[in-house]
Amino acid sequence: GFKVAIIGRPNVGKSTLFNRLVGKKLALVDDTPGVTRDRRVHAAKLYDLHFDVIDTAGFEDTAASTLPGRMRQQTEIAIREADLIFFTVDAKSGLLPDDRTFAEVVRKSGKPVVLVANKAEARGAQGGMLEAWELGLGEPIPVSAEHGQGMPDLRDAVVEALGEERAFGEDEEEEDGDEVAASEVLIGEDIADPDAEASYDDTKPLRIAVVGRPNAGKSTLINALIGEERLLTGPEAGITRDSISVDWDWRGRRIKLFDTAGMRRKSKVQEKLEKLSVQDGLRAIRFAEIVIIVLDATIPFEKQDLQIADLITREGRAPVIAFNKWDLIDNPQELLAELREKTERLLPQVRGIQAVTVSAETGRGLDKLMESVIKTHKVWNSRVSTGKLNRWLEGILAHHPPPAVAGRRLKIKYVTQAKTRPPGFVVSCSRPDAMPQSYVRYLTNSLREAFDMPGVPIRMALRTSD
Ligand code: GDP
Repeated sequence: GFKVAIIGRPNVGKSTLFNRLVGKKLALVDDTPGVTRDRRVHAAKLYDLHFDVIDTAGFEDTAASTLPGRMRQQTEIAIREADLIFFTVDAKSGLLPDDRTFAEVVRKSGKPVVLVANKAEARGAQGGMLEAWELGLGEPIPVSAEHGQGMPDLRDAVVEALGEERAFGEDEEEEDGDEVAASEVLIGEDIADPDAEASYDDTKPLRIAVVGRPNAGKSTLINALIGEERLLTGPEAGITRDSISVDWDWRGRRIKLFDTAGMRRKSKVQEKLEKLSVQDGLRAIRFAEIVIIVLDATIPFEKQDLQIADLITREGRAPVIAFNKWDLIDNPQELLAELREKTERLLPQVRGIQAVTVSAETGRGLDKLMESVIKTHKVWNSRVSTGKLNRWLEGILAHHPPPAVAGRRLKIKYVTQAKTRPPGFVVSCSRPDAMPQSYVRYLTNSLREAFDMPGVPIRMALRTSD
């Protein structure tokens, strides 16, 4: 199992979330001093995930109960003991300076984080949700700890943050026996995701990050894209000093571009790039919805390029490839065919990926690149109704049903789309463990085709249909 610490400033709803995860009665029991001493963790359950939640409140001693003292304590405990941090903010009230200070500490710790935007059911929480992005801790997960909403997404976010292996890994040690069993988590409805509606919302800024190996032309590309327009818009008010993003717009579409500090000034660029760590790259990817991978078309694909693409898809972001320096290529047709073939073969997890030839130097192809970004973003946001999915499934079951394993035919009952950004589906079936990976891949590819979802990662989860 793994350990989770719920961290955040006072009043964001940490205890409510704690109670929701471990079952209400426990928190009361633990109010008794002395009892808490040795019972520092509590068994918790979130659907198929079993883990421990660290009772950070139990560590608070009154001497340090000033706000900074408490925060420091909580953070220290989390960093020391937790495998995963639920950094909790209040979407209703929006961010306060404490949230930002604190997020910085959590981010620097390098521990996996799920950003929980609590009170998301409240009117006006949408603003707080957007604001939460600024923390640089990835996608805020809207929940209502009080009403038990958003728990499916929280579950998915945990799996994403930890990876399947750790999320579902076996306990190394036996349960203590004196641990109180978790009550069933009360599961409410999913919070309606405004991005998931049938119509695509193009009023919110689209977040882009640009990644690639040194000298691929990232800075040149960014400068070419933004040009002088960024001088017109300027850095966002309020976060000028430590700005992580540049606002800009392309044909009236608002864009937020991840700004790996100093990327604008040419002289600073080389210096900075040397220092750019994997963490920075990961941060950029997590910030973004769409990640442009800049490749130097004069240099063949390398393992590193594929690793970046793989990382992007594992993080659930959608990649778009820019084959840069196309002005230097003298056999464009042949090379393009070759590169397309390679991309499709090497990146099957994002079949149909958008790949555009550009010259950051001359500006050629940049409009096409942006069109591809927006197209991919739409796919990434797309939702398929349960009705359509199950009509599709009928056809699949009629023509290419799951195989029999050990003499028993595997059955699929239904498919639903559990999430968007990226699209994620739940397949309800008789024996998830027995379902061959090859068949899951077949389902994914077929679904991608049927509903026209090229170039984005697609999540497929199998659940028992009892
Ligand atoms: P970064 O390290 O990825 O940010 O790469 P830079 O933007 O610093 O570019 C590396 C070098 O490639 C510079 O000398 C650029 O002038 C050059 N470069 C970038 N894009 C192009 C392009 O489209 N065509 C040509 N010919 N050169 C380019």
